[in-house]
Amino acid sequence: MKANEYTIDLLAPNVDGTEKVFHIDDTFFQKVDGLVQRGQVTTTLHIEGSTRSVFRFHFHSEGTVFAPCDRCLADVEVPIDTDDTLTVKLGAEYSDEGESVVIPESEGVIDVSQFIYELIALSLPMKVVHEDGQCDEAMMATLEQLTPVNKFDEE
Ligand SMILES: [Zn+2]
Repeated sequence: MKANEYTIDLLAPNVDGTEKVFHIDDTFFQKVDGLVQRGQVTTTLHIEGSTRSVFRFHFHSEGTVFAPCDRCLADVEVPIDTDDTLTVKLGAEYSDEGESVVIPESEGVIDVSQFIYELIALSLPMKVVHEDGQCDEAMMATLEQLTPVNKFDEE
């Protein structure tokens, strides 16, 4: 794995107590193939690891992202404020069970960018919609034209 600002070397001597701040912007979101394509978020990562094989990664993300409105598909500004903990273990082979990840000891390096993205995406409300009257009317009109009219639904 190529080292970048999002990679953490778990085999380094001073992992315990590491604190990193990531300033996430549109470029970050565009690299990930997901719903959120734009945003400004500050993520603070604090790592605890009293043993050299199990680490607790605490993420705090705060900022704003833009996600498509369920009604008109235009972007809606959504505030982000989320705290999450990920357990990272060194082990024989890679596995990802949501809240716990195993990194092969032979590599010893984790890239946290995908996790940061997922934690932000998971913190979004189930339904993202504009406030009433704020939807993009031109977009709604286009969508209506594209939706086939079902005669049975009209009664
Ligand atoms: Zn809308």
